[in-house]
Amino acid sequence: MLNYIDLHTHSTASDGIYAPAELLQRAKDIGLRIVALTDHDSTGGLQEAVQEAGKLDIDLIPGIEINTDVAGGEVHVLGYFLEYERPAFQDVLKVLRDARVRRGQRMVELLNEQGIAVSWERVREIARGSVGRPHVARALMEAGYVQSIGEAFDKYIGKGCYAYVPRYKLTPVDAVHFIASANGLPVIAHPLELPGLEELRNWLPELCDAGMVGLETYYGPYTDEEVQVLRALAETYHLISTGGSDFHGPGIHPTPLGGRHVPFEAVERLKAGAAKRHGKTPPSFELPPPVEEK
Ligand SMILES: [Zn+2]
Ligand SMILES: [Zn+2]
Repeated sequence: MLNYIDLHTHSTASDGIYAPAELLQRAKDIGLRIVALTDHDSTGGLQEAVQEAGKLDIDLIPGIEINTDVAGGEVHVLGYFLEYERPAFQDVLKVLRDARVRRGQRMVELLNEQGIAVSWERVREIARGSVGRPHVARALMEAGYVQSIGEAFDKYIGKGCYAYVPRYKLTPVDAVHFIASANGLPVIAHPLELPGLEELRNWLPELCDAGMVGLETYYGPYTDEEVQVLRALAETYHLISTGGSDFHGPGIHPTPLGGRHVPFEAVERLKAGAAKRHGKTPPSFELPPPVEEK
């Protein structure tokens, strides 16, 4: 069976390999007709994607994937049919992106603005993975600005210092509310990657109360048995069963672009939900205060 829908893809606007236009060209080449671009914490690729999709006669669904923190792990929440240009939504997104995705980079920018010569490349080399404040501190030490990690925190990157960038934590419920603030439809991404199916069962009532509308049932590598369990759960809670490949680029995830069959019903139901919301004043969203740290 030839697939023509993929509701979970990433571009260079987050950690994907292909620029949005290139991603869509590839989608076209393999016969996809409906594609959602769902970059992590960013809608930066959507304008290009919408334009390219128009040229290629692909139905582009503007989406996002928001990372949230729970005890023992992370839960990702997808948002579909976002009115992503809403200024209030973009303002929050920028704060989140600076504070989470670009936190290390933002600290280096602030240091550079004050004439402190540490480079982002060097900080990344030191970190060899996700960048945290200790890596920036080590770069400051290496460059001779401070004698110790502690001094770097006291002088430059600790709370209250000019290169301090606060850290925010969102709960899955926060993410649901945030997506609703752009009239989008929130869906739990890859539900079996959560701290567990039991946890999911425990959380579903609260998440549904908050406004969750879907469950990513047809996810990349899930087996038929897993899909069946999730479909039953989705039906119990009247959630839309969505799906997609979670494509980032060749060889990064096991499933290729368009490599998962997603029923058209998922798109129909999402569209119907979006039609009810769009054009209306969305509920406002207030970012919870940053996490307390030194
Ligand atoms: Zn994810
Ligand atoms: Zn993803």
